[in-house]
Amino acid sequence: MKPRRFDYIRPDSVGEAVAVLAEHGDRANVLAGGQSLMAMLNLRIAEPAVLIDIARLAELDTIRVAGDAIEVGAAVTQNRLMGWPDLAAKLPLLAAALPFVGHFQTRNKGTVCGSIAHADPSSELPLVLATLGGSVVLRSQRGTRVLAAQDFQTGMLSTAREPDELIVAVRFPVQATKRVAFREVARRHGDFAIIAVAAAAESATKVRIGIGGVADRPAARAVALDSSGAVAAAFDELATELEGYDDMHASAAMRRDLLRRLGPLTVEEAMRCAA
Ligand SMILES: Cc1cc2nc3c(=O)[nH]c(=O)nc-3n(C[C@H](O)[C@H](O)[C@H](O)COP(=O)(O)OP(=O)(O)OC[C@H]3O[C@@H](n4cnc5c(N)ncnc54)[C@H](O)[C@@H]3O)c2cc1C
Repeated sequence: MKPRRFDYIRPDSVGEAVAVLAEHGDRANVLAGGQSLMAMLNLRIAEPAVLIDIARLAELDTIRVAGDAIEVGAAVTQNRLMGWPDLAAKLPLLAAALPFVGHFQTRNKGTVCGSIAHADPSSELPLVLATLGGSVVLRSQRGTRVLAAQDFQTGMLSTAREPDELIVAVRFPVQATKRVAFREVARRHGDFAIIAVAAAAESATKVRIGIGGVADRPAARAVALDSSGAVAAAFDELATELEGYDDMHASAAMRRDLLRRLGPLTVEEAMRCAA
């Protein structure tokens, strides 16, 4: 199938982009890397009257330190962030997760913010943002607001973004630890995760974990290791609480089972990095 007809607008500035969004609201779609949106247009899952292409806005193509966070602008591609020299030192969990996001070719076009805007529950980048307690910066003609990751993604492919708002950046808190691990189960490398687990040690007995692909949005929390250094009971509880969902890739029961197995392995790997 081919997309329905639409008008294509390439603004020269963020100010112009939010003005166009204010004019067209939910009749418009922002186009970033197009790696998800183009398929949705072709399948006519999305039928916007207007596409607003932000991919070449230089003012959004920035990676910068913002207080205790790294702010990644909305035109920054996944490969550009992967090649950022400070990534492993400042955001080791993100460095561990990025190679799992699609393929080299999709990461060349796909943006970090586009993935977070798309809010697929199996996506790696929203999972890392939630695990680290990051935030999303939204701009409209009404002003700028910053939403915590857990308030931004409201469900499967749904977010708290208003139709006139542009995501201008996301903020990942700089990590104090190098003890991290990221694991996922997918049919092939580069496919969306069936389930994914992120772990970042907070101390010798406490670890922050994130789980993707089991609920309709990433789940993140801190868990304590038991006296033998294990976390199996915590993942067992989480599997029951998050329930899982059925789709063409896996049943809810398989997702819960994978979580019970992959979760403790991921935490062990993160804790081993301490040695
Ligand atoms: C073969 C293939 C394999 C892939 N595998 C994976 C994978 O393993 N893991 C994974 O996470 N993803 C995967 N993807 C998706 C890919 O990572 C996309 O880059 C990502 O989902 C969307 O980023 P984008 O910049 O391409 O956004 P687009 O496709 O341009 O936009 C996606 C959605 O977000 C909205 N949007 C984008 N930017 C903004 C903004 N700044 N403000 C407001 N709204 C915005 C758009 O309007 C649209 O609704 C894969 C894609 C392909 C084609």
